[in-house]
Amino acid sequence: MLDSFGREITYMRLSVTELCNLRCRYCMPEDGACRKTRGEFLSEDEIITVVEAAASLGVRKLRITGGEPLVREDIVPLCRRAARVKGIDEVCLTTNGALLPALAKPLREAGVRRVNISLDTLDAQKFRCMSRGGDLSQTIAGIRAALEADFEKVKLNTVLIGGFNDDEIPQLAELTRQYPLDLRFIELMPMPDSGDFGPGAFLPCSVVTERLPELVPVPPDGGVAKLFRLPGALGNIGLISPLSAHFCRECSRIRVTADGKLKPCLHSGDEYSLKGLDFDGMVEELRHAILCKPSWHGVLNPDNRSRAGRSMNRIGG
Ligand code: SAM
Ligand code: SF4
Repeated sequence: MLDSFGREITYMRLSVTELCNLRCRYCMPEDGACRKTRGEFLSEDEIITVVEAAASLGVRKLRITGGEPLVREDIVPLCRRAARVKGIDEVCLTTNGALLPALAKPLREAGVRRVNISLDTLDAQKFRCMSRGGDLSQTIAGIRAALEADFEKVKLNTVLIGGFNDDEIPQLAELTRQYPLDLRFIELMPMPDSGDFGPGAFLPCSVVTERLPELVPVPPDGGVAKLFRLPGALGNIGLISPLSAHFCRECSRIRVTADGKLKPCLHSGDEYSLKGLDFDGMVEELRHAILCKPSWHGVLNPDNRSRAGRSMNRIGG
C-alpha cells in the first residue's frame, strides 16, 4: 500500500528477539539484559499473523532480524512458515553469523534466500572489544558456511567507525575480490544507547570512495546502498548513508519489534501495538501506522541523537 507521501511499502523488517549472544557497543548498553517475560513478546503464531497481515497490504520482502535471530531455538521452522506466507516473495535474514555454521544449510532449505552478516573488523582483538567478548573466528566460520549453503546472496555489513575500523577499509573491501559476496559500509547511527566513540567516530561513507579511488560505480539494485565495484571483484561494495545522504524519500520499509510494536520510522518514537490483535486487527493497525509514517527522520547527527526510544537490538537495525 502507499503511505501518505506516495511511497509504496513493500519491505518489513521483523525482529524476532531482543536477545543476543554479543553486546556490540554501538548497538546495546553493556547491561543489555532483557527484563521482559516471554508473554510480553509476540508468539510464533502472532509473528506469522503479522507477516500474513503485512503481505495482505503489499509487503513482499521480509527480513528476519533481532537481537540475534539465530539464538531462537525455533528459528528454522519460523523462517519456513514465514517463507510460505502467500504474497511474500523473499525472506532474508540479518545475523552476526556466530551460529551460522550449524544453521546456514537448514535456513537455506527452509526458504531463506539471502543473508546479511555483520562484520566490523578482521582483527580478532578489535572484534572482541567492540562486541564485548565475541569471537571473530566464529563469525568467519559463519560467513564460510553461508557461502557454502548456496544463498542467492551473501552480504557483509560493516558499521564505519572512525579510529576503529577506517584503517581496514581496503582489507575489508578486498573480501569482494576473494569471495562472491557484497560488502556494505554503513554510517554509524547515533542511537539513544549506542556508546560514545568520541568526536572522530562518525565518518561519512564518502571516506570509502576517497580511500578506494579505483572503485567503479555500478547501477543500483533497488536497495538503499549506492553501489560500486573494485576492478575484477566478484561482489559489490555498497555505501549506506543514513546521515550524510538520507534516503527517506525512497523508504519502502516498516519495522516490527519482537514485543510487537510497529515502527513506521526507525528514528521516531511512534509505535503501534500489534500484540494480542487478530489478523483483521493487525491489518487495521498496520494500515493506520503506514498512513502515519513520517516524511523523513529529521536531523540526525552526533549532537542530535535518534529519537527511536530504544536501542538497536530492541528494534532490529
Ligand atoms: N544481530 C544481528 C546482526 O548484528 O547482524 C541483527 C540485528 S543488528 C541490530 C542489525 C544491524 O544493525 C547490524 O548490521 C548492525 O551492525 C546494525 N547496527 C546496530 N547498531 C547500529 C548503529 N548504531 N549504527 C549503524 N548500524 C547499527
Ligand atoms: Fe547483537 Fe547484532 Fe546488536 Fe551486535 S549488532 S549486539 S550482534 S543485535
